[in-house]
Amino acid sequence: MSASSCNPDATWSRVENAANDARKEIERAQKVVDEAIERGATVVLSGAGLVHTFECPSIRQSIDIRSRYEGWEPEELMIEFRYGGGVHIPHLRTTDQVDGRYKVCKICKPNVVPKPKYVGPSTAASNLGSKHIGRRIDGQQVCAINLSVDKIAIQFEDGVVGTFSSSDRIVFDAGRHSVSLSNELATQHV
Ligand SMILES: [Zn+2]
Repeated sequence: MSASSCNPDATWSRVENAANDARKEIERAQKVVDEAIERGATVVLSGAGLVHTFECPSIRQSIDIRSRYEGWEPEELMIEFRYGGGVHIPHLRTTDQVDGRYKVCKICKPNVVPKPKYVGPSTAASNLGSKHIGRRIDGQQVCAINLSVDKIAIQFEDGVVGTFSSSDRIVFDAGRHSVSLSNELATQHV
């Protein structure tokens, strides 16, 4: 072991740096949520295939990301973001963007009639690669894909970055897709 591992100051700054990174990620996630709400989103899609209102007890915490982590100690933030997978960005939608893959939550009863929709081709998130750039997911074109050990990030044309775990199923929109993006928007491995 190096001497620095016994130096309390070094340990402290490592924890602080990790906590600062976590705080940045929290702010970024909150911004994605706030911007989706500004664009008219009123419901949330859950991983369990349900549509919820923002007030539903089962998802409320996922919308108010900033306050969920309020008062956390730097060490707690470091552990949560390093080993707990970090912040989950909820999938916010307007009511008419909800299709028949989703069912209405019986607790919060959002005023949504999911539209029947042809479900497009899908792949495991871990299989994503440069060939998927230019495809569309929920109407948004995929601009860049970042594969890291524990998560997969997709950047969409509207600037939103969606994060997925490697076991998540990514469903593309049906139909032809545009491949007119430039080379600099290629897949990046980090
Ligand atoms: Zn609900």
